[in-house]
Formats: sequence, structure tokens, C-alpha cells
Amino acid sequence: MLIQILTLFPQMFTGVLESSILKRAQEQNLVKFELINFRDFATDKHHMVDDTPYGGGSGMVLKPEPIFRALQYAHQQNRQQTERGKAKVILLTPQGKVFKQEIARELATAEGLIMICGHYEGFDERIRSWVDLELSIGDYVLTGGEPAAMVVSDAVVRLIPGVLGSSESAQHDSFSEYLLDFPQYTRPVEFEGMRVPDILLSGHHAMIEAWRREQALIRTAKRRPDLLENAPMSEEDLKILKAIGELNNG
Ligand code: SAM
Repeated sequence: MLIQILTLFPQMFTGVLESSILKRAQEQNLVKFELINFRDFATDKHHMVDDTPYGGGSGMVLKPEPIFRALQYAHQQNRQQTERGKAKVILLTPQGKVFKQEIARELATAEGLIMICGHYEGFDERIRSWVDLELSIGDYVLTGGEPAAMVVSDAVVRLIPGVLGSSESAQHDSFSEYLLDFPQYTRPVEFEGMRVPDILLSGHHAMIEAWRREQALIRTAKRRPDLLENAPMSEEDLKILKAIGELNNG
């Protein structure tokens, strides 16, 4: 996958792209990142990328031309470097669709992603016409789209087949089956008076699996009951939820 990020602050990505899973995925050639500073695509002598808003008001607005030219360049690079040459263009904005695991799953199948990071007061509305998807990472306002592009990149790349080793499988991650993850423990067996549940020490795999499923259901019902609406349920799952009163409340 080729991920191209249009940003005025490429240096912000250094630590994130050079650490952990994102670093390893690049080393394994499963993903390639290209940081494109759209200031390089401003043609005036001051390399202006923003201007005052028509109609007045505070703050500066990103101009359409540098982003348009940077996008043309990104598409051209994508055509040269990928098989199908068709990248999905994503605009990071608090006004977009809220980013969720199911969107990450869908984006992980794309061959190319181009993400546009806004800054200042926002961007010229016409930029929206070149975009396939607008994404928000939550109901709060960031200074720029860069942290959002990092969040989306991280969540997507770890779902590309081969990026996570089998020992790090995303299969049980929270949200992967519309359930939160079950509780995890490691050594020591007892710490500060808190003991690892006996079942996890039993070596009985089927019983451990059943316990984990039950814990995931209980945890989700308590913390995020809204997720349960979409979670595929077995008869046994329904019995557990009924026992803890979740279905009666619904
Ligand atoms: N005035 C804009 C508005 O209310 O929609 C917010 C501008 S914000 C200060 C600057 C840039 O940060 C935005 O253009 C966007 O790219 C990015 N941004 C801010 N909050 C975000 C969020 N929750 N998700 C994704 N991007 C965000």
C-alpha cells in the first residue's frame, strides 16, 4: 500500500513512522509512506498556502491551488508506483465521518491512500470536491490534521495482511467483533494482593476460550452496550447477556 500524506509539517511524522509496527511494515515493503509538503506546490514567490476568508472573520484559510497541484502530483506518483493506480483521497476534518475500526478494515484493502491534513482555520470549501472520504477522529478540534493522519495510518496499517505476526494478531482486538477485548494478565501470578484468575492457569484451552468470550461480553455490556447491537451472537452469548441483565434492559 502507498500512503501519501499532504501536510505543511512533514517533520511531525518522523517519530511515528520510524517506530514500532509502522517502521517494520515499511521495512517489509508492505506499506510505503510519502510525505508531500503542499507548500512546495505554491507558485507565488512567498509560497503562500493560506489567505484571509472571503466575507471576513478571524483566522486563515488554506488556498485551493497548492493542494490541487499536490494532489495531482500524488495521483501521478500513485499511478507510477501501484498496480491499479487508483488512490482513495481522504480529508481529515472534524466535520467528517467518525473513524471506526470497520472503516480501518475497509481502508486496509486499498492499494493507495492520499490523506490531506488541514491547518489554521480550515480549508477552502472547493477542496472537498477532490475528496472520496472525509474522516474525523473524534468530536474535538485539533490544531492540524497531522495527528489524525497518524491515527488513521496506524489503525489501517496494522490490518494489512502480514503486518502483524501471528503472536500479535488483531483478531481479538477491541471492536474487531464489535466487542471490547477480554482482560489480559501476565507474570507474576500474584501482585499486591491481586491474583490472576485460576482459569487462566488451568491449561484448559476450551474453558479459557469460553471465559474470555464471557469476559468480553460482560465488559462490552458494562462499558459500551451500544456495540452489542452489531455483534454476532451465539445462543451461549445470549444466555450470558441475559444472565447479567443486559437483554432485559434493552
Ligand atoms: N474550523 C474548522 C472546523 O471547525 O471544522 C477546524 C479547523 S482545525 C483548527 C484545523 C485542521 O485540523 C482541520 O482542517 C483538520 O484537517 C484538522 N482536524 C481538527 N480536528 C480534527 C478531527 N477531530 N479529526 C480530523 N481532523 C481534524
